[in-house]
Amino acid sequence: MIDYAHIIDGVRSTFTPGKIVCVGRNYAEHAKELNNPVPTEPVLFIKPSTALARLESPVAIPTTMGSCHFETEMAILIGQPLSCCSEPQAAESIVGVGIALDLTLRDLQSTLKEKSLPWEKAKAFDGACPVSAFVAPQAVSDFQNQQIQLYQNGELKQDGNSGDMLTPVLPLLVYISQFFTLLPGDIVLTGTPAGVGPINPGDSLQLRLSDAVDVSTSVIAKE
Ligand code: ZN
Repeated sequence: MIDYAHIIDGVRSTFTPGKIVCVGRNYAEHAKELNNPVPTEPVLFIKPSTALARLESPVAIPTTMGSCHFETEMAILIGQPLSCCSEPQAAESIVGVGIALDLTLRDLQSTLKEKSLPWEKAKAFDGACPVSAFVAPQAVSDFQNQQIQLYQNGELKQDGNSGDMLTPVLPLLVYISQFFTLLPGDIVLTGTPAGVGPINPGDSLQLRLSDAVDVSTSVIAKE
């Protein structure tokens, strides 16, 4: 198991990651770009801890399974158990904020969706969740006013604001905790704004969460 960086007040510590709970279609514009209906309730799925990778290292993607898309998402690190929680409990449990890629094998996902099969292979494969180091939540004054940006080879591809989330961070944690107990070290991905597209080995990426997180990385082929 890899340890992940968690930086509070400039002090770098590590945590052992657990599961990653993700929400699909949490931005209306992204649902529309993939011709999906805008959901009335959060669409949840889980990536296992084996999907985690360090965003700061080169991002290793499969090259033999069709297109691999980037989805840039605000990531929340959980520090206290949450089960059927309230919004104040959810707020108290957040110990870190970062930025992550919800890597998606889009062709495979489309095939699975057509057959009404689960998406796991397309979303939960090894390395499917590169995550930045986490900063303290105080670095982010308002979870619902963060600019989420991805530059691919210097070109701005995703530029969304977390204020456009259909289910904001705290209600999302409350909703998730009704189904899945969140434990310290678990991560929640809060959905991607519009602009998703394929990445390829050799690409350079820059991911930003307002002024709180700024990571430059590159893409390589997975061995
Ligand atoms: Zn996503």
